[in-house]
Amino acid sequence: MLKRTIKTFVSRLLNPAQRARPDGPRRYERQEHGIDRRLVSRHAVKVCEVLSQHGYEAYVVGGAVRDLIVGLEPKDFDVATNATPEQIRALFRRARIIGRRFRLVHVVFGQEIIETSTFRADDSGKQTDEHGRILRDNEFGTLQDDAARRDFTLNALYYDPLSETVIDYHNGVADLKERLVRIIGDPETRYREDPVRMLRAVRFAAKLDASIEAKTHEPIKRLSRLIENVPESRLCDETLKLLNCGHAMDCIRRLQDEGLHNKLLPMIEPLQRLPHGEAFLDMALARTDSRVRAGKSVSPSFIYACLLWKLVQKDWLLRCDKGEHPQQALLEAADMVIESQTRVMPIQKRYQSDMREIWFMQPRFERVANRAIWRMTEQPRFRAAVDFLQLRAEAKEVDSVLAQWWMDLANAGDDERSEMIAVRKPAGATAAPRSGQRRNRRRRSNAKRTQQAGGIEA
Ligand code: ATP
Ligand code: MG
Repeated sequence: MLKRTIKTFVSRLLNPAQRARPDGPRRYERQEHGIDRRLVSRHAVKVCEVLSQHGYEAYVVGGAVRDLIVGLEPKDFDVATNATPEQIRALFRRARIIGRRFRLVHVVFGQEIIETSTFRADDSGKQTDEHGRILRDNEFGTLQDDAARRDFTLNALYYDPLSETVIDYHNGVADLKERLVRIIGDPETRYREDPVRMLRAVRFAAKLDASIEAKTHEPIKRLSRLIENVPESRLCDETLKLLNCGHAMDCIRRLQDEGLHNKLLPMIEPLQRLPHGEAFLDMALARTDSRVRAGKSVSPSFIYACLLWKLVQKDWLLRCDKGEHPQQALLEAADMVIESQTRVMPIQKRYQSDMREIWFMQPRFERVANRAIWRMTEQPRFRAAVDFLQLRAEAKEVDSVLAQWWMDLANAGDDERSEMIAVRKPAGATAAPRSGQRRNRRRRSNAKRTQQAGGIEA
């Protein structure tokens, strides 16, 4: 026992990161944490500088510190301070207090917003609902309190850009280096307080190629149903983060392993049951992930269009086989699938209309008359629809030469576009889904009727 105490004491003396009080934080200097200050947003540095000039403590905190330590580019920069929202606001020309549940300050520098929050009190003793979810949370605390209420050890790191030191109360640097997602405090209590933390555990594990530490992992499956208790707007935000983190494929697999996917992405299981559904999903997510990792944007509507497409296509095909006009059938299939999805989990209206635009352009790529092409290129979702066509070509749903022609057109300038259209062969017959070779007479006569009734024009 004595031997162990001496050993710990000596190792603390030798290791500068462990020299702090045993119950106090570890401090890592520049060469230990490896953060290059030039990669920190100068606006975040400015916020910390101004606050510290006025006698407050201020640190860059959360995802930005985590990402900088592992060499990823942070999405945004947050600052935590002991100044109150009013005190923060008084120090900056363009700053506004936002938030009801917890007030924080947006300090605005042109396009960049530095979210600056006051250290929060520990979560314990807060008002909760019958499942343990925190309802009200509006008390300020110390730096140590603030660290304790954060979700995972690797998200509870504070970087002081002036001294270039990282303060670490929960061994987050070590966990980060070992790629371990470890919750702070008792896992079950923390998930009950906020079930979104289970989704965040999965997302960080996928994003950082990490494992979820055993105790952090253990209750997730058991508590997965608590997700249904979370307001849908938060779930929507989290779903978009999952799909847009550059590791969507891994996230979805991990969500499925934990039984967390059904509420968030109710289409996944029906999709996997469809022939080629799984392959299409893999292809779509692989594309999305590689785009995100290359620093390109992927719109949520494009991702949802991919996730729901095979279900739409199945219904489209059935309707065509029953003799409906292809465009009308597509319209109805889209309505049906969107409706059944939004019964479980809403999709914002603007994304829904973008998805429809992407889908409705698909048959037109195969049959549009040359004179109508210009109008098509002017549609706001034209580019996304062409990307989608490429994906379908990769899935062998449409001819790859056709998809390439449209991609070339999308990339061309006006003169080149005119030339391409001038030499294009006239479009073929009305395009139904590929496997819909079971066309019948009744459909053709129905088609006429739909056109007369003002169905979507070619
Ligand atoms: P990213 O921005 O890459 O999604 P992030 O960790 O920055 O990751 P944010 O949602 O921006 O995630 O949150 C910022 C910080 O706030 C987190 O790093 C974490 O410390 C804390 N935090 C966020 N959500 C929670 C939560 N549900 N419970 C406890 N702490 C949280
Ligand atoms: Mg963040």
